[in-house]
Amino acid sequence: MISKKKNTNFDIVVVGGGPVGIAFACGLANTKIKIAIVDKQSKNSMSNPKVDGREIALTQHSLKILEKLEVWNFVPKKLISAIKEARVLDGNSKYFLNFDHSEIKKECLGYIVPNYLIRKSLFKRLKSIKNVTLINNNECLSVNISKKFATLKMAKGEIIKTSLVVAADSRFSKMRSKMGISAFTRNFDKNMIVCRMKHKKSHKNIAYEFFRYNQTQASLPYIKNQSGIVTTATKDLTESLMKMSKRKFNKEMENNFNNSFGKMELIGKRYTYPMITTYAKKFISHRFAVIGDAAVGMHPVTAHGFNLGLKGLDILNNEIKNALKNKIDIGITDVLKKYQSKLHRAAAPVYLATNGIINLYTSNILPAKITRQFILRFVNIVKPVKQTFLNILK
Ligand SMILES: Cc1cc2nc3c(=O)[nH]c(=O)nc-3n(C[C@H](O)[C@H](O)[C@H](O)COP(=O)(O)OP(=O)(O)OC[C@H]3O[C@@H](n4cnc5c(N)ncnc54)[C@H](O)[C@@H]3O)c2cc1C
Repeated sequence: MISKKKNTNFDIVVVGGGPVGIAFACGLANTKIKIAIVDKQSKNSMSNPKVDGREIALTQHSLKILEKLEVWNFVPKKLISAIKEARVLDGNSKYFLNFDHSEIKKECLGYIVPNYLIRKSLFKRLKSIKNVTLINNNECLSVNISKKFATLKMAKGEIIKTSLVVAADSRFSKMRSKMGISAFTRNFDKNMIVCRMKHKKSHKNIAYEFFRYNQTQASLPYIKNQSGIVTTATKDLTESLMKMSKRKFNKEMENNFNNSFGKMELIGKRYTYPMITTYAKKFISHRFAVIGDAAVGMHPVTAHGFNLGLKGLDILNNEIKNALKNKIDIGITDVLKKYQSKLHRAAAPVYLATNGIINLYTSNILPAKITRQFILRFVNIVKPVKQTFLNILK
């Protein structure tokens, strides 16, 4: 990886050096493609990302992609934990829908890795890649597309020319808007509070999701009797949970988990994120593609955002490599539209199902309360339906 700020030409410019932007560039290592990654952040904050409270649940498929990108080796093994089982419960009912690792014939359903470690490992891999230039402390202000190339204007005045712009600049993607691509946006008027807690009783590597009408309460089993605790709550409740003393917060969580973990204790800070989901109306246009959250900004309740981001960038990497092999211009719509249709097929069902689940499980009306009990039993008992959910994890 080279760091420079001169005006220059690239084959691909990735706007956004978040986890998806970097992973995409890693997928094109050892090719002849000249890539630039532009990010507002400093090099130091990208190489040493701060803890942000997110514990990322990775599927088996994501693990395969991270191995292929040669990133997985950089994640310290003792800081990875396994999810053996996942249980979904409705309110205080004891009945639960469960997904077990034996149902996908793997040693676990997935893995938990803190987000800052994923970002750190991606950066370590990036450092060893020769065909990528990192442009830090700079922002892409505008994009202009012509038949033969795209031109990007940087905040510090540079003009960059490229064959393809890949926007990985978050769910509120400015590049997407500048290209005139709108997105289906849903504001849930809720917030998510994430934090790490240690607890007396073992989690036995089980992830829990309790749906409690105005609030959902989830736990992701981490190492050393710790769990990533995820609370979705109304704005008022979020404010009170964020301000609450540590002692009171611990008690609140013990109650919310029906005392399943015994005594609980907050470790570190509480972090809050707004619950806004986005789905771009198009993923591509001539010499332009959106990836990661800029394409599909998922609700974190089903933990699929980064997993879908990896799936999408893997598809785009493959289409670009195929175009190179066949000596086809990588920025033309014919190449990019294969990426669009494959990602749409993978993402739309997960996005719609996730939003549907949230509607159903946070509604207080009686038919919804009855339906959700029925759905837990239905998915548990009807094998093909359960298999559809399990296939996402493989
Ligand atoms: C609480 C929480 C829990 C989550 N848990 C899970 C989980 O368990 N499993 C899972 O798969 N996913 C999870 N996710 C989702 C996951 O974190 C995101 O999908 C992922 O971080 C998206 O990465 P990204 O690179 O697309 O975007 P981002 O991480 O948003 O990065 C965007 C980057 O673009 C840069 N940028 C923006 N605009 C410009 C510009 N104009 N010029 C230059 N740079 C720019 C920014 O500086 C930033 O570095 C969770 C999310 C949250 C909020």
